[in-house]
Amino acid sequence: MMSQGLVTMSYIGASILFILSLGGLSNQETARRGNYYGMAGMVIAILATVLSAAVTENYAVLVVALLVGGSIGGYAAKRVEMTQMPELVALMHSLVGMAAVLVGYANFLGESDLTGVEKTIHEVEIYLGILIGAVTFSGSVIAFGKLCEKISGKPMLLPARHYLNLMLLLGSIGLSFMFLNGETQDESLIALGAMTVLALLFGIHMVMAIGGADMPVVVSMLNSYSGWAAAATGFMLNNDLLIVTGALVGSSGAILSYIMCRAMNRHFLSVIAGGFGSAGGQAAEVTGEVQPIDVAETVQLLREAKNIMIIPGYGMAVAQAQHTVNEITKQLKAKGKTVRFGIHPVAGRMPGHMNVLLAEAKVPYDIVFEMDEINEDFANVDVTIVIGANDIVNPSALNDPNSPIAGMPVLECWKGETTIVMKRSMASGYAGVGNPLFVLDNTRMLFGDANVKLQEVLKALQE
Ligand code: NDP
Repeated sequence: MMSQGLVTMSYIGASILFILSLGGLSNQETARRGNYYGMAGMVIAILATVLSAAVTENYAVLVVALLVGGSIGGYAAKRVEMTQMPELVALMHSLVGMAAVLVGYANFLGESDLTGVEKTIHEVEIYLGILIGAVTFSGSVIAFGKLCEKISGKPMLLPARHYLNLMLLLGSIGLSFMFLNGETQDESLIALGAMTVLALLFGIHMVMAIGGADMPVVVSMLNSYSGWAAAATGFMLNNDLLIVTGALVGSSGAILSYIMCRAMNRHFLSVIAGGFGSAGGQAAEVTGEVQPIDVAETVQLLREAKNIMIIPGYGMAVAQAQHTVNEITKQLKAKGKTVRFGIHPVAGRMPGHMNVLLAEAKVPYDIVFEMDEINEDFANVDVTIVIGANDIVNPSALNDPNSPIAGMPVLECWKGETTIVMKRSMASGYAGVGNPLFVLDNTRMLFGDANVKLQEVLKALQE
């Protein structure tokens, strides 16, 4: 067994590694290193905790639990498709929430020799831990359903939803008094159980009310909640490392939510209150002639172009086209063309989705640009290739106030000379709105699976 001093030292070391990990993850070039720091920190954290005095002597149970949990996690991570990553992340958040709830109940029902103020503080920790944990759990399960499209992406808007939220909040506050002042343990347990039900309902209601296009904010917000749930668990268990790690995840998730809100031009509170962008009338119908294009013509346009922009979206992840895209980029650069990538902050289904895919395919970082860096430059672009993106290049976000994505900045590719949009059909994107880009005069549609079509383009370019 480790001495308390050694455990504390290890915890400090692990905390530093987690901070270095976060620092590394903020930049693509250092992201891999950041992950290694995180893994090392986690190994130290687990070893120090397992070997500390706080943990049961019953190691057999612990080892079995670690093996079962580790195998399920390892299997899920190995099997998951890149397109299912966001769902997996949402599911993981729900587990953090569930853990906080279970630890809370175990703490409450277990023996405690605390008295007076210390007892009250500990009970407040338990109450808050279960509250945050339950909201995180049910909210994440609904987010999972919405991300894998088992639940409709449309916001569910109950008539008096704001009052309902208010009642759930007041109910939770009222129950906290009942919990803290309960005469017997049973009385407090009833209050705790009732609050858990309210918190679960609140989580469900909150995420159900959020429209498809606002999901990125919810994903990052639940990420933040899971951090606070972990921090609350840390307080309950008196574990400093869990408090620090939870606070790191909680605050970085909150910063990410803020960044996502800014990227989508949304107010955080209006996203949380739900139904944003759906209060107005119907979004305008898209009418007009679609102009298809074939691979030969696409290659012709690319050969003639000097300045090429590639805009990847969720469809590139579905088609797993990133490697072909990289090969095409190499070909075009070898022919002396300027090739750049324009990345929208909410492209794909999770923050940084496109950057991860492009990094996996080894696309050089210096040609990958954020939306803000290149949006002004489309006037100089000869050909833009939109690969399986839809909502992030939808002009109605800028000119149709009734659109569910109204106000969201988008990549203004239509300002370039020609836009080639690659997708399989005229189906809408995640937000479920029509896209007038597809019928503009300078847009051509290259229908088919993005990877299949890009392979053909690559072959023709190599000839
Ligand atoms: P969209 O969902 O708007 O569009 C993706 C397009 O890809 C679809 O229109 C689809 O059309 C096409 N597609 C799908 N599979 C293929 C394929 N194999 N080959 C070619 N095309 C394909 O994605 P965007 O990236 O443009 O926008 C992201 C959306 O997701 C935004 O609304 C955002 O708010 C939301 N979101 C983002 C999150 C994030 O954190 N980034 C999280 C949750 C939601 P077709 O079926 O015709 O092929």
